[in-house]
Amino acid sequence: NPASKTFDRQALINLDAIRDNVRQFRKVAEPARVMAVVKADAYGHGALPVARAALEAGAAWLGVAHLSEALALRAAGIEAPLLAWLHTPDSDFAAAIGAGVDIGISGWELEHVVAAAHEQERPARIHLKIDTGLGRNGCPAGEWEALVNRAQEFQEEGVLRVVGVFSHLAVADEPHRPETDEQIDRFRDAVAVAEDAGLDLEVRHLANTPGTLTRPDAHFDMVRVGLGLYGLSPFGNQRAEDLKLTPAMTLRTKVANCKKVPGGQGVSYGLNYRTEAPTTLVLVPMGYADGVPRNASGAQVAIGGRRYDVVGRVAMDQFVVDLKSAEAGFPPGEEVILFGPGDDVPDAADWAAASGTINYEIVTRVSGRVPRAYV
Ligand code: PLP
Repeated sequence: NPASKTFDRQALINLDAIRDNVRQFRKVAEPARVMAVVKADAYGHGALPVARAALEAGAAWLGVAHLSEALALRAAGIEAPLLAWLHTPDSDFAAAIGAGVDIGISGWELEHVVAAAHEQERPARIHLKIDTGLGRNGCPAGEWEALVNRAQEFQEEGVLRVVGVFSHLAVADEPHRPETDEQIDRFRDAVAVAEDAGLDLEVRHLANTPGTLTRPDAHFDMVRVGLGLYGLSPFGNQRAEDLKLTPAMTLRTKVANCKKVPGGQGVSYGLNYRTEAPTTLVLVPMGYADGVPRNASGAQVAIGGRRYDVVGRVAMDQFVVDLKSAEAGFPPGEEVILFGPGDDVPDAADWAAASGTINYEIVTRVSGRVPRAYV
C-alpha cells in the first residue's frame, strides 16, 4: 500500500510528477516528440511504472542503454517504440528483433544485427549513431558515409529498416559552450548524408534534458529526456522549480534511535566528528548499502520540518544527525527525509554537492535494498 505509513526505508515515487514533467517537456519540445529515457531502472525510480506513466502523459518513445533493459519492458507488456543503444557482441540482438526493439548502431553492431535478422526472419529496426563530439559511442565522422551506405544496402535487401539517426551532446548543461554548436552542425551534416543516400528517416534525435531546455535548434524530430523526467535540474545554477519541474522521488526513513551525549563525543567510524557541546544525536537507518554516499559531508536531512546536519562517516546501514541542542529530540519512528520536492527539504542536488557528485548519481544509486512505493 503506497500510502501506508508503515515503512523503514522508502523511495516514494510520485508518478503524477513524472506525468507533469513529461507534459512540460512535450510543451518545450513541440513539435518534436519526447523519448522518455528509462535506463538504469528509470534513474532509480522504477523502469516499468515510470515507462507507463511517461507513455500515459504522451511520451512517444522509450529509451534505454541495454537490450536487456528493453526486453524486460517488452516482457512486462510495454508495446511503445523502444530504443537501446549500448551493446557488446554478446547482447541478444535476435531477441531484440523478435521483440520489436529498435537497436542503436555505431558500427560493428550492423553485421551482428543483420545476422540476427536473418535468423529471426524479420527485419531489424535500427538507428544509426554518429559521434558528433562526445567521444564515446557513435560512428566517427570519417566512417559515417560508409556505415550509412552499408545500412542502405541492407535496407534494400529488406533485412533491416533504418528508422533514425541520432547522436548525444557532451556539454549542453553548460549553455555557453561552443562545442554544442559544433555538435549540432555535425549532426545536420550526418543527417544530410543519410538522406542523400536515400534513407527516409522517421526520427532524427540529438538533445538530452539540458539540450532540450536550452537549444531549440537541437530538437530535430525527437528529444531524449532522462533527468528532467524525474524532475531534476541538469544545471548548477537553476533548481527544478525554476524549470517548472517537480522532483519525483522522496527518499525517506524513520528515526532509529535518539540520545543525549556530552560535548566531545566522537561519532561513527574514525571518530572524525566530535560534538561541540552537550547535544542530541539521531540515528538514521540508511547507509551506503542503500545508496547514500559514504562521503556526504555537509549533507542535511529534514526531520519535523527542519533541516539538520549529517555528521561523521556514513556507514553501511546507518548515519548520525546532530540536532545541535541538548533539549531537542525526536521519538523513534519520526519521519526523516533525505531528499525530495519542496522548499523545506534538501534535494538530490544538495546531496550531490555534499558528496562531490551530480544529482543523476544520487537518485540512480538508491539501491535495490530500498523499497520503492508509488503514489
Ligand atoms: N540519450 C542518451 C544516449 C543517453 O545516454 C542519456 C543519458 O545519459 C540521455 C539521452 C538522457 O540524458 P539526460 O538524463 O541528461 O536527459
